[in-house]
Amino acid sequence: MESVLLRGGKVWDGTGKPAFAADVVITGNRFGGVKPPDPRSPATMRSIDIPGHTVIPGLVDGHAHLPFVHKADIADTGEVPPEEHTLQTVQHARTVLQAGFTSCVSGGSAKPRIDVVIRNDINAGHIPGPRLLAAGPELTSTGNLGDERRMHIYRESIAMIVDGTEEMARTCRFLVREGVDTIKLNISGNQTIPNSRSDQNVMNEDEIRIAAQTAHAHGRRIAAHVRAAASIKLALRHGVDILYHCEYADEECLDLLEASRDRIFVAPAIGLLHNLMYEAEPWGISYQKAEASGVVHQFECAQKVFAELRKRGIRVLVGGDYGFPWTPHGTNARDLGHFVRFFGYSNAEALTAATRTGAAAMMLEGRTGEVAEGYLADLVVVAGEPQNDVRLLESPANIRLVMKDGRIHKNLFETLH
Ligand SMILES: [Zn+2]
Repeated sequence: MESVLLRGGKVWDGTGKPAFAADVVITGNRFGGVKPPDPRSPATMRSIDIPGHTVIPGLVDGHAHLPFVHKADIADTGEVPPEEHTLQTVQHARTVLQAGFTSCVSGGSAKPRIDVVIRNDINAGHIPGPRLLAAGPELTSTGNLGDERRMHIYRESIAMIVDGTEEMARTCRFLVREGVDTIKLNISGNQTIPNSRSDQNVMNEDEIRIAAQTAHAHGRRIAAHVRAAASIKLALRHGVDILYHCEYADEECLDLLEASRDRIFVAPAIGLLHNLMYEAEPWGISYQKAEASGVVHQFECAQKVFAELRKRGIRVLVGGDYGFPWTPHGTNARDLGHFVRFFGYSNAEALTAATRTGAAAMMLEGRTGEVAEGYLADLVVVAGEPQNDVRLLESPANIRLVMKDGRIHKNLFETLH
């Protein structure tokens, strides 16, 4: 692999230090050095001049669903045959990478092997895409989120339906056999499910315990959709590693989350709630409808809970359930703006959540998430200073160059010069 010099820009290195002027050398798939600016051009290296731009570590989405195909109704996702579904996911992987996301923690694959085969093909270098921690489909119980069956009709969705401990153990083992990194459980209900509500715990404790034991026995992660306070407590009691949503956390939950803060990650998936309130009208979801279904209340609760989790030093990840028609793939960076606007994060704190904290969630702490010598060269060159205004990351035109593992996947500099 060639060496690349990014010259004349600033570096926000992800360590918490303010941005500084520096040249960045990438040798092979690693950062070779971050050096004081030097206008002389070394003849041996490909140089790209980036004045007015900032080099940041590659972004990480902590709750991604690359196989979500922009369907308003998840039952329609179940209708997509595996072949088409896989090909569409290839496109989403490229789109998300081009938006600056060099890593994704999957929050659930819509079919058992899609995340796995996409991850493998990305790692083999056959298709462009982020580093991916592959999940299985969400494991849900009869009547909960992801069960679209009716008495008289069988329908697939985005989940596998698992009832009882024996079925749970078998399904987790099956997914591990097929190569997932993460088992995902739907422990709480959801605002979209009439008889399994967001504030209800609907998976029973033994099922959660068996799932966590099985995942951990194989050295895999376990993640969970937990909205209800009771679900958060059960997830923590049984060692769930990544907790999604958490908006109905009570005071006891906050204390328990804080007590586990060195072990767990939490992600609000706030982009989905935000866009259901304000941007889903074309799909028949008005603000009033979002309010009637409880989304507005959930959003208000999330604001309070995540402002508190920030103060308590809990590792919170960006990633907003992108892949619905109202949260299209590639708009993932909008989540950072929500952290600033609704949770009280500074711009730099939101950027840290999306880089260094995300790298830790990817189990790549000390290897990605910083612009530092020896780290894997995952980076984004952004027009302006995103550490002072994360909304700059929302515009594709500002994402000027994306590099993953030393390879350039987007480069607007050389088409302009
Ligand atoms: Zn999700």
